[in-house]
Amino acid sequence: DRRTGGLNNINNDNSATDSKDLRAKLVLLGDSGVGKSCIVLRFVRGQFDPTSKVTVGASFLSQTLALEDSTIVKFEIWDTAGQERYAALAPLYYRGAAAAVVVYDITSPESFKKAQYWVKELQKHGNPDIIMVLVGNKADLHENRHVSSQDAQEYAEKNNMVFIETSAKTADNINQVFEVNIFPLIKTGVQGNC
Ligand code: GDP
Repeated sequence: DRRTGGLNNINNDNSATDSKDLRAKLVLLGDSGVGKSCIVLRFVRGQFDPTSKVTVGASFLSQTLALEDSTIVKFEIWDTAGQERYAALAPLYYRGAAAAVVVYDITSPESFKKAQYWVKELQKHGNPDIIMVLVGNKADLHENRHVSSQDAQEYAEKNNMVFIETSAKTADNINQVFEVNIFPLIKTGVQGNC
């Protein structure tokens, strides 16, 4: 159980407002349908919900989790479901983020392109110390793969990112993303990040 591996306590969104100085914002970016919500739900709740609802409007899922050192990590998803009128708001959303998980779907080259767009955005407007992880999700659908691991790995290396392929469905590598590549790097005492 991942909750024994460095994490305790799952909080509802409003339960930790008195720990503001130990909060760190973690954002997930990527095309609609790549599995951002499923990744968060798989990690935080240990579940996969195949009926996960289609995103309507901008950011809709926000979930907090307390780490062992009492840093409160707030997960947020930015997804405009293709509604470009929200695009101008995106920098407001990821500006204070300590970490960003940029997600694509290994069966969708368009989603890989969109991931590259988000990486550029973060490089231009994000926190200069932001921890960025590139995630190729739906790795269980490898028979339908249209983005090679090698291309993604090369792209990630060029951009100083860790690259991981995951499956929210089978839980493959989901813990790796957060517990190995993000949480240990989030410094406690980060202020004003949410
Ligand atoms: P979001 O719009 O990026 O938040 O995507 P969702 O989390 O809502 O997932 C979109 C669809 O992809 C849903 O139908 C999920 O069941 C499916 N999905 C998400 N992750 C995976 C995965 O790892 N493998 C497979 N096969 N399907 C997935």
